[in-house]
Amino acid sequence: MSRGQFEMFQELLRNVSENSPFYREKFRKNGVDVREITSMDMINILPFTTKEELRDAYPLGLQAVPEEKIVRIHSSSGTTGKPIIIPYTAQDVADWAEMMSRSYQIAGITPKDRIQITPGYGLWTAGIGFQAGCEKLGAMAVPMGPGNTDKQLQMMMDLKSTVIIGTSSYALVLAEEVEKRGLRSEIKLKKGVIGSERWGEKMRQRIKNELGIDIYDIYGLTEIYGPGIAIDCDCHDGMHYYDDFLYFEIIDSVTGEVLPEGETGELVITTLRKEGAPLLRYRTRDLTRIIPGKCECGLSYPRIDRIIGRTDDMVKVKGVNIYPGQIDEILKEVDGVSSEYQIIIDHINGKDVMTLKAEYNSDGDTAREDIEFNIVDLFKKRIGIHIIAEISGIGSLPRSEKKSKRIIDYRQN
Ligand code: ZN
Repeated sequence: MSRGQFEMFQELLRNVSENSPFYREKFRKNGVDVREITSMDMINILPFTTKEELRDAYPLGLQAVPEEKIVRIHSSSGTTGKPIIIPYTAQDVADWAEMMSRSYQIAGITPKDRIQITPGYGLWTAGIGFQAGCEKLGAMAVPMGPGNTDKQLQMMMDLKSTVIIGTSSYALVLAEEVEKRGLRSEIKLKKGVIGSERWGEKMRQRIKNELGIDIYDIYGLTEIYGPGIAIDCDCHDGMHYYDDFLYFEIIDSVTGEVLPEGETGELVITTLRKEGAPLLRYRTRDLTRIIPGKCECGLSYPRIDRIIGRTDDMVKVKGVNIYPGQIDEILKEVDGVSSEYQIIIDHINGKDVMTLKAEYNSDGDTAREDIEFNIVDLFKKRIGIHIIAEISGIGSLPRSEKKSKRIIDYRQN
């Protein structure tokens, strides 16, 4: 924990109690008296803040400073219904640039680098956040925005971009085009900073190999500044986050209980310094864990693990929360099995029964029984429950874009 974290937290509580109509009302409704909070751990007497509440505060219900202090708004894309609007003060914009600049430095990016930014600019936070951090660092931004692959590749060659910023899917498109057009020797890229949408190890390796770059996962969300609040270091063993700006908790997303360090659950974030729209215990719906201990790189910023999924994808079997990301991790470790799977959950004779169906790997020469045994064994060790494993030929399982569709739960019927 960084020095002064609790002092910042107290200041935040004083500030929202006085200046945020949103939190004043929330505290009143929940009977919260912030003066009772005398240590950081007592944060758990505060109610959570949810995405729905932010949506209901549309357009500017979250604003906690006078009009003249707001310099900009951003908005989450919002696939359904109203979007979420987040107002920023000049200090918020500067703080975000500071975190992004740190993130670049942790990824080993320097003022001599040329950063090609392919996420969009505008209402959402991606492009402009990467840009501001780049300028603060003193590197050269190549602010492309999304699409137009021909032009992206042209600029990448002519301007000798050394860093590419983007989503994993767009980085893969670029990697494939570079390969197809035989441009590899003309590309000067060294590093890729890739947004933290969930993506597989195979895709990561392909981008890495085809572009010949080192890849860093970056994390963030519009509600909490935007991207740049956590990033991989050279050890690639979790993402460092900035505990002098943000307070992270991991909770059981069903009970709301705070989980001990190291356990996987929903990430909850409190903004210690935000002015425009401060948030207390915001439920991100992202699943990860806080990695215990210090990173080998020597940085003292704490770490979270890669995001393994969303709370919406979670299932509870025999009283244990299971996330699709955990199943991916287990299958990756078992020889002879591909990454495709399907989970069937049923309730038979008063007990939950979980069956994991997976496919032979095309080049696998491990016996079917051994694969099944290894899956069952690893599941028991890692997740703590007994399951049934069924292995079938490659291509026998239905293919689906959405990971959550891979889980069929008959218990609800
Ligand atoms: Zn590190």
